[in-house]
Parts: sequence; structure tokens; C-alpha cells
Amino acid sequence: MPQFATKAIHAAEDLAQVPDVFPPISVSTTFRYSDNPDDLVKMADIKDYDYDTVVYSREGTANTNRVEKTIEAIVGGHAVVYNSGISAVFATLAAFNPKVIAFNDGYHGSGKSIELYARIGNFKKVGIDDYDQLNEGDLLILETPRNPSGTVYDIQFYADKAHERGALIAVDSTFAPPPLQDAFKHGADIIIHSATKYFGGHSDLLAGLVVVKTKELKDRLRDDRIYLGTNIASLEASLLIRSLRTLDLRVPRQSQNAQKLVDYLVANKDKLPHLKSIQHGSLQTEEFVKKQMPNGPAPVFTIRVSLEEFAKALPSKLKYFIHATSLGGVESLIEWRALSDEHVPADLLRVSVGVENIDDLIEDLASALK
Ligand SMILES: *Cc1c(COP(=O)(O)O)cnc(C)c1O
Repeated sequence: MPQFATKAIHAAEDLAQVPDVFPPISVSTTFRYSDNPDDLVKMADIKDYDYDTVVYSREGTANTNRVEKTIEAIVGGHAVVYNSGISAVFATLAAFNPKVIAFNDGYHGSGKSIELYARIGNFKKVGIDDYDQLNEGDLLILETPRNPSGTVYDIQFYADKAHERGALIAVDSTFAPPPLQDAFKHGADIIIHSATKYFGGHSDLLAGLVVVKTKELKDRLRDDRIYLGTNIASLEASLLIRSLRTLDLRVPRQSQNAQKLVDYLVANKDKLPHLKSIQHGSLQTEEFVKKQMPNGPAPVFTIRVSLEEFAKALPSKLKYFIHATSLGGVESLIEWRALSDEHVPADLLRVSVGVENIDDLIEDLASALK
């Protein structure tokens, strides 16, 4: 059995339709049917999708199929790719149609997507610890590690609570792509990723993923995606295939860099009087944390500083951390988070650690804080 790094590069090569080493970008929206009348099967008569045949690009393309097959090799399960993380969240709501959704209010966009769903449907949103209100067919969405701080929640605990009530648990694992976290191992039924972040890794594509455990569920999601109109475009899919090839080089490096930065800040807090607090999964002491994330913490953490105006000004003092929203790219980012998220304190900065040299990053952040 090939290992993760190998699969991330080679898993879907059999789907290549041309000899190009890099999957070509096709702008065609429609694809010629077979010349052999015996191959022509009416849509209504298709029993088992194989996804190899391409018909119309809203339904699927060669690159869509390649992304999904590669994700299946490295995440496990059955994957469906979307044109953004938020459309992956919405597709999960539409497919499972819960009457109650328990959510731990991480990424604010996911909260907004749930509100939009509420406008159309008839359901109730409750907090993550209100799992007693879940019933058969309902959904618990656990974002872990949670935005913005990278705080780790116990997947197995919430999976057990959801399952006791006959509900499903979807884990938004955006902050911990492989090899950092395997949510299926800890009881998740559904895994969601904003592939815009670590899977993409270069701040140059929008994509989302839903991974489920059966082909039957995948077929339902793929069917729905046709009518949501949220397939990924060929250019983005090919960029994502490129990115997956280096996932195993980037993510562990980013995780180690984050750990070292946090370690430095904790050890030198006395010398940094404006640094009020640091929040990161690596600072959590509960037993489940190491078990759930044995290969390192999420490469995102938050700091709070002594005054709001310092939080606002700090990004301008940095050389390498770019002041921008989003996370997961090879370049380090910092964000005065109040700019884009109304739910966080105004003295908070979110840091997404890249793959730069760690000594340069430490030096940069420490001198800006001073
Ligand atoms: C960014 C993000 C999303 C939304 O993804 P997009 O690709 O921006 O649509 C969902 N969940 C989490 C945890 C995120 O960080």
C-alpha cells in the first residue's frame, strides 16, 4: 500500500485522458457523447454512477473526478468537491436536511450559511452542548480545531452524544488537514474542508470538500451538486491537484512552525509587555488533544494585545506576515480579526503560519510586539 505522500501525487493518474503530466485545464462546458449507440444510456436508467464519463461541466469534469479520487486516497471515504468551502457546508445541510443543527460557532461564514438555510427550511440552531435537543436525522457540526484560535474539541465525545440521539456528526476539519487529523477515526460521519485553505495552500483557489463514508451518500451529494450548481471549475481543480502533491511537505512544516512560534511567545511573555494572551491547541492539556492530533497542532493561533489600537497597528510593523484574511497558504498571514469577524474581541489577532524559516518568523513577530 503506498503511503500518504505517494498517494497525494499518484492516486488518480489512471483518470488522465491525455499524456500531460500536469492535468490540463479544459474550458469546455460540454463533451461529445459516444459515437457507439450501444454506449448511450438514458439519465433515468443510470443505476450506478461511475463518474468516468463527462457530459456537461456543471455535472463533473475530468479534473473534478481526479480531485475526488485523490482526496479519497488520502482522507478515506467518498469525496465530493465544491467550488468553495461554504458551498460544501451548504451542500451538507441540503443533503441531510436536519430539523435541529448543533454548531460550535467557529467560522462565521458557516454560521451565516446555516442562517441562510434557516430562511429556506424550517429548523432550529442550538449550541454544541445542547446535544440533548438533537433527534433522529439531525446534525451536529463540530468545527475542530475551531476558528480563530485553533482550540481542539473532543470529536469522539460529541460523536457519541450525536449518535446516542440518532443524529449525525459532521466535522469541519479545515484547520487540521491530513496528516494532522483523521476525524473518521474518532467517530465523524461526515468530514468538511474548506480546500481553499490547506489543501489549496497557495491562496490562489477557492474549493470545498465533503467526505462521506458510503458511495450511496456520495451519489446523493453529487446529484445535489448538479442542482446547486456548485461544481468546481477546471482551472481551480487543476490547481488543487497541483497543491495536493505537496500537502505532505507543507502542512507538517506549518504545524511545526506554529508550535515553535507559540512556544517562543509563551517562554518570552515577560519580555513582551503588550502581549496579553496566546490561544492555541498546543497549549491545551486535556488528554484527548494529543490522541486526536498526534502529528502536531493546527498552524493557526490567536494572540490578544493590551489595547485595541495595538492590535490594529501591529500588522503594519511586520515584514513577513502579510496583513490579510484567510489562512493555510505557504505565506504567513496575520489579521486584526475584528476587520472580518464581528464575534471576536477587538484586541485579537489571528496568525496563520506559513512555511518560511522559523527563526525569521520569530524575529519578525517578536520585534513587532516589542
Ligand atoms: C474558510 C472556512 C470555511 C469557508 O470556506 P471558503 O472556501 O472560504 O468558502 C469554512 N470553514 C472554515 C473552518 C473555514 O476556515
